[in-house]
Amino acid sequence: MNPNSTILVTGGAGFIGANFVHTWLETGEGIVVNLDKLTYAGNLENLEALAKDPRHVFIQGDIGDRQRVDALLDDYRPWAVVNFAAESHVDRSISTPDDFIQTNVVGTFNLLQAVRSYWEGLPDEERSAFRFLHVSTDEVYGSLRNDDPAFSETTPYSPNSPYSASKASSNHLVRSYHHTYGLPTLTTNCSNNYGPWQFPEKLIPLVVHHALQGKPIPVYGDGLNIRDWLFVTDHCRAIMAVMDKGRPGAVYNVGGNSEKTNLEVILTVCAILDDILPFADLRRHDTLITFVKDRPGHDQRYAIDASKITDEIGWAPEETFETGIRKTVQWYLDNAQWVKNVTSVAYQNWIETSYGQR
Ligand code: NAD
Repeated sequence: MNPNSTILVTGGAGFIGANFVHTWLETGEGIVVNLDKLTYAGNLENLEALAKDPRHVFIQGDIGDRQRVDALLDDYRPWAVVNFAAESHVDRSISTPDDFIQTNVVGTFNLLQAVRSYWEGLPDEERSAFRFLHVSTDEVYGSLRNDDPAFSETTPYSPNSPYSASKASSNHLVRSYHHTYGLPTLTTNCSNNYGPWQFPEKLIPLVVHHALQGKPIPVYGDGLNIRDWLFVTDHCRAIMAVMDKGRPGAVYNVGGNSEKTNLEVILTVCAILDDILPFADLRRHDTLITFVKDRPGHDQRYAIDASKITDEIGWAPEETFETGIRKTVQWYLDNAQWVKNVTSVAYQNWIETSYGQR
């Protein structure tokens, strides 16, 4: 095994992390060491196809466990660390913010400390080739009005939820480790992802899951909040491109040029389901849409100006929303057992607490 071709991925049993591990092993070289705490959002079924693949080493553990991370870095000697590990759901950050501060802020700090110590001990050549990539979100920039220009990398931070505040804190810590210690960090702020293996508390898999069961499809407020949507494999390719060509210390915004209202997204998913799997009684899936009380502090709009990553690195999304969303809906239809397994009793309780329905 060539130690220089090993990377450490954290949170690689979650939605984007698992997609990244698959994409990396399909197109990249070497070994992926995957450190994940396996919270409710982490799922080894997302990595089932790699269970016997010697290029994937899974380790259950917490990024906040300094001794564990130190030992992993010493044992596997990665040339890069990609940090996906986080609490990621805004609604949960409103009801239970503690875990968000613990993992997203304290955990990232612990990881940075361990990585810095490891990096400082590397021989010169390996030290200059090393990269720490921190995966973050456009939500750190706050909320836009519908006629505001999109977020650029220089937009001031203005996080509005405990989730986005915890991610903004982590971004600041990462920035400071580059500025103060010279750690070769990279930060990506990405818009909403969709695709396979997304836990069905998030909008798109939730809509598919509820529509298939003939259950009400909850929509916050008037459904007119706007998000930019990016197919997850395009995000994974962007991260790989930034690892390869990004300038140490730089931040890159990643987006799909696909701004949609939540209602547009839901109507699109319903129309695809009408096409593929019409209801026997000819009712349309959008008749299940049910408007519910808005999320407290709900940001109106996020939009990404991704020109920096395109101009500097040459990355652009390959999927349009129209092609990506079809693939995604088809994936959930083809993977009904996966959906069944993750929509356990705990999931049902969560939906009930959040939207007052089962
Ligand atoms: P996810 O919630 O699906 O997965 C998070 C993973 O991290 C899970 O496997 C979980 O077990 C693991 N984890 C949580 N706490 C941990 C800890 N203390 N130590 C080790 N592992 C831990 O999240 P996701 O949607 O895949 O998001 C991944 C990253 O991308 C997050 O940092 C998130 O902020 C960011 N992001 C997500 C989106 C999106 O649309 N989902 C958009 C932009 C940025």
